[in-house]
Amino acid sequence: MPAVTPYERAMTFMRSAFDRLNLSETEKDLLGKPQNIINSTVRFKLDTGKEASFPAYRVQYNNARGPYKGGIRYHPEADIEEVKALAALMAIKCAVVKIPFGGAKGGIQVDPKKLSKGELERMSRTYVTVIADSIGPDIDVPAPDVNTTPQIMAWMRDEFEKTKKVYAPALITGKPLAYGGSLGRDKSTARGGFFLLQELAKIEAINLEDARVAVQGFGNAGSEIATFLHDAGATIVAVSDSQGGIYCKNGLDPIRIHKYKQKTGSVRGQYCKGSVCDIERMKLDETETISNEDLLTIDCDILIPAALDNVITSKNAKDIKAKIILELANGPIAPEADEMLAKRGVTVVPDVLANAGGVTVSYFEWVQGRSGNRWTADRVDHDLRRIMLQAFDDVRTEARRKGLSLREAAFNVAVGRIIETMRVRGWVG
Ligand code: NAD
Repeated sequence: MPAVTPYERAMTFMRSAFDRLNLSETEKDLLGKPQNIINSTVRFKLDTGKEASFPAYRVQYNNARGPYKGGIRYHPEADIEEVKALAALMAIKCAVVKIPFGGAKGGIQVDPKKLSKGELERMSRTYVTVIADSIGPDIDVPAPDVNTTPQIMAWMRDEFEKTKKVYAPALITGKPLAYGGSLGRDKSTARGGFFLLQELAKIEAINLEDARVAVQGFGNAGSEIATFLHDAGATIVAVSDSQGGIYCKNGLDPIRIHKYKQKTGSVRGQYCKGSVCDIERMKLDETETISNEDLLTIDCDILIPAALDNVITSKNAKDIKAKIILELANGPIAPEADEMLAKRGVTVVPDVLANAGGVTVSYFEWVQGRSGNRWTADRVDHDLRRIMLQAFDDVRTEARRKGLSLREAAFNVAVGRIIETMRVRGWVG
C-alpha cells in the first residue's frame, strides 16, 4: 500500500471540516487545493567550484484573508507533498488566531548540515531570486522554519532588496533584531503554547507545579517550552533530540541540557564521555537514556511533540499515557491516532492552535516593519497572550457547542472564517 503523504493527512482534517460546515462544491474546490505552486530548482556554486542543484518550492495555499504567510524549511524530506501540507496548515493557523494572513510554505529539499556557511548563504540568496516575483510585503511573507534561521532571513531580505531595488523591512519575518526583527519572536512559538497550557490547567483544575512533562525535540520550540514549564514549577521528566533522549523521574534541568547540547550537539551531552555514556554519573542523577519512541509512551501528564510530523500513529496511540498533548510540531499525530486519542479522552491541543504563537509574533514583526515603530518586549508578550487566549476560547466554544475535539473545532473556526471572507469578496456565490 502506498504511504499516506503529509498532504493527504492534512487534507483529511480539512475535508472533514468542509463536510461538517456543508460547504458547496465550488467552495470545497477553491479551498481544497493550493492556489499557486512554484516548483523549481536552486543552483549554486559549492566551495569546490562545482555546481549543486536541489528541488525548491513555494506553495501559496490561500490568500483570501491577506498576504500568503509561511516559513521556509531546509530538510531532505521537504518534498512538494510536505510543503503543500504545511502551506494548508498555515492558512488554517492564521485564521484560527485571526491575523490578516493567508497560508503558504517554502522548502528546499536539501540536508543543510552538509553545506558550509558560504554554500548556505549562496543557496538562500539564489532561492530568493527564484521566488522574488511571487513574494513581497503585500503578496507573500516568508519566515524561518526547521533549519532556517534569523541569519538566513537577513540574507534573503538583503537579496530581495538588491534584486528589486526596494526597501522592504516587511518582506520576511524572523529576522535578526539588528535588521528589522521583533523582540520576542525567538521564543514566541513556545510562549504561545505555554499560555495555552496555563489556561488549560486553570480550566481543568490541574496544578502545573504537579505536572510531569515529556518533550520530543529539543530545538527552538521544544527547548524554550521546557524552560517555561520548568520555571513554572513543572517537572520535565524526559527530553529528546535526533540522537535520542534522557529520562529522570525527579526532573531534568532544561537550562543545563541546553548548555550541554550547545557544547556537544545532543541532549545526552552532559552524560557523555566522548561517544560513551557516563553510567556512573547517570546513576548518581537517577537518569536513563531512552529512545524517541520510548519518550512518546513514557509515564507523564503532558506530552509535547516538538520535532517531526507523523510520530503518533495507530501503532503507538494506545500506549500514550499523557492526558494532555500539546502539538508544538506541525502534524505530529496521524488522523487515525487522533481519533483513538479522542476516544480515550486525551486532550489534544492541535498544531494549528498550539504553535500559532510563532506566526502571531511574525505578524507583529510585519506590522512593525510596515509602520517603522518598534514594540517593547512587554507589548509583544501581552498581545501574544491576548490573541492566543482569544483563539483558545473561540475553539473551545465551538468544541463545546458542537461536541467536537479541539482539532475539529479549530478547523471549523478557521475554515468558517476563510469561507466567510471568500464569500464577501465574491470569490464564491
Ligand atoms: P529546530 O530545527 O530548532 O528543532 C528540531 C529539534 O528536533 C532538534 O532538536 C532536532 O534534534 C530534533 N529532532 C530531529 N529529528 C528528531 C527525531 N527523530 N526525534 C526527536 N527529535 C528530533 O526546529 P523548531 O523550529 O523547534 O521546529 C520544531 C517543530 O515545530 C517543527 O515541526 C516546526 O514546523 C514546528 N514549529 C516551529 C515554529 C518555530 O517558530 N520554531 C513555529 C511553528 C511550528
